[in-house]
Amino acid sequence: MKRIAGALAALALLGSAASAAPAPAAGPDFADRQDIDFANRGFLGSRTDPRSLAADGHVVWDLSAYGFLDGPPPGSVNPALWRQAQLLSKHGLFKVRDGVWQVRGFDIANATFIAGKTGWIVIDTLTSAETAKAAYDLVSEKLGARPVVAVIYTHSHADHFGGARGLVSQADVDAGRVQVIAPAGFMEAAVSENVIAGAAMGRRAAYQFGTFLPKGPSGQVSSGIGQAISAGTQTLLPPTIEVIRTGQQMVVDGVRLEFQLTPGTEAPSEMNIYLPDLQALCLAENANATLHNLLTPRGAVVRDAKQWADELTETIRLYGDRTDVVFTSHAWPRFGRAVIADYLEKHRDAYKYLHDQTVRLMNDGLTGPEIANRLTLPAVLDREWYNRGFYGTVSFNVRAIYQRYMGFYDANPVHLAPLEPADESARYVALMGGPAKVLAAARAAYEAGDDRWAGELANRLVIADAGDQPARDLLARAYERQAAAAESAIWRNMYLAGAQELRSGVAPSRGQTASLDLVRNTPTPMLLDLLAVRLDPEKVGDAALDLDLTFPDRRERFRVAVKHRVLTYEAEPKGAAASAVSLPRAAFLATMLAGAAAHAGLAQGDTAALTRLAGWLTPPQRDFPIVTR
Ligand SMILES: [Zn+2]
Repeated sequence: MKRIAGALAALALLGSAASAAPAPAAGPDFADRQDIDFANRGFLGSRTDPRSLAADGHVVWDLSAYGFLDGPPPGSVNPALWRQAQLLSKHGLFKVRDGVWQVRGFDIANATFIAGKTGWIVIDTLTSAETAKAAYDLVSEKLGARPVVAVIYTHSHADHFGGARGLVSQADVDAGRVQVIAPAGFMEAAVSENVIAGAAMGRRAAYQFGTFLPKGPSGQVSSGIGQAISAGTQTLLPPTIEVIRTGQQMVVDGVRLEFQLTPGTEAPSEMNIYLPDLQALCLAENANATLHNLLTPRGAVVRDAKQWADELTETIRLYGDRTDVVFTSHAWPRFGRAVIADYLEKHRDAYKYLHDQTVRLMNDGLTGPEIANRLTLPAVLDREWYNRGFYGTVSFNVRAIYQRYMGFYDANPVHLAPLEPADESARYVALMGGPAKVLAAARAAYEAGDDRWAGELANRLVIADAGDQPARDLLARAYERQAAAAESAIWRNMYLAGAQELRSGVAPSRGQTASLDLVRNTPTPMLLDLLAVRLDPEKVGDAALDLDLTFPDRRERFRVAVKHRVLTYEAEPKGAAASAVSLPRAAFLATMLAGAAAHAGLAQGDTAALTRLAGWLTPPQRDFPIVTR
């Protein structure tokens, strides 16, 4: 009986098993204008000069870049995404409630200013020192000049800590004039996410955020959770206080704060902040004006939907009955106890539903792509604007949940040893009668509006032969039409970036370099891990190395060994290696990562060993092709 009931429920959930595409969603309710009200509430004005510049004169942020969003949606942009982009691009200073202000639209995230007795407590600092300073200048202009007395990082992502040095100096921190507060594990998480896989993630992030797309109705219109990432100086001011448990309280400049630690949700190190005297709750990036990513398309370790939902359940239990306003690290606040209770429950339930139903169907034998094509949120959750997939999507999140439990393998033995995609595609194209026939079928699919199939066919042609220009053009058109339909800003960006690469080749990455502050704060073992993944076995051959490295500036010693074409290391080793060298860590890194002989005059000992090691490393191919390989 139970089994039959389960089967009936599955049928109701899945609809017809034969349907080829996901059931058309009802879409959000355009008559629901609550987010428009919330996004406009408390507006006090914005900056006169739209542009923030870096020291070298390049534009870090341009407040006028999204002026084209005025007016009704064009045919080239999904109407719901257009509305979301309009709201996210509103910029300026907003009063959230007495004692709490936000600067929004100055970067991808928000900076929140809480009035203390003598100065400002700033929650989150934007991505760049330049945009953070612009935000602080606006606050000073509108609300009067006051010092920043504390900085709080809600979590370990750079759009929330990168601007810190635009607000305060190291001297202020060292003198005890400024406290820097962060969740437990912040530093390790902040510096580790992009180290080992940084090159690949950086290339893919340019797709996700549409970095090289023009901004406009035919190009980048938003990133769904915010508009874009600013292009300024990323800094990292290490915390002076770590929050280590939920319920921990602190008084900062006369303001009472209570913390809820939420590790393993949107970031490995994250926390919510409750302000009991203001009945206000900061939900960091644990709650948003969009569905978030469980697996960000740029690439990262998969997140845990269940943990995320469980932490929001704890939020409701701890603060649900004593919160009048909720504000977040992205987008606009929400006002009123009933509104907040409804939001927290339905937003939590979106993640919980995706988790529970994905796992249920997985246990029935369905694979990630099958579940992604069939599962939709219940209408009561799906129609809420904050549950729409402007950033993360149901389709992607479902596959992320499958991946978290089961990995990439779907248990079909044909996928144990898959063919190389180029080989597989060439064989399919030949079997289907050759490129001309496949292109004709792709064109017919495109004319019939079947963009996913047109894309599948044209992609086979391009993968089999990257020089097939008619196939590249057709695939670009299929991507552009899917971009126009996409409700997800980042799906739109990825389709358009793919089309751009098909039409004009790979956009060069403009030689981005890692932030100096970030490298300076990265623990040495992580940097040695990075060297290990740059070791080129062809260059090493049968050679070996046994080297003691001393960094006097950090009072550190490591033994680095290369043997069997593998690099290993050991901290504070016993005895002595075959050779030894002592030099400042920065000089060692410059020699290894930049290939410069930066150790000249700074190193003592066997510098020839350094040169040998550097010669075995190969820098990553940052500007690799994506859609033609
Ligand atoms: Zn963020």
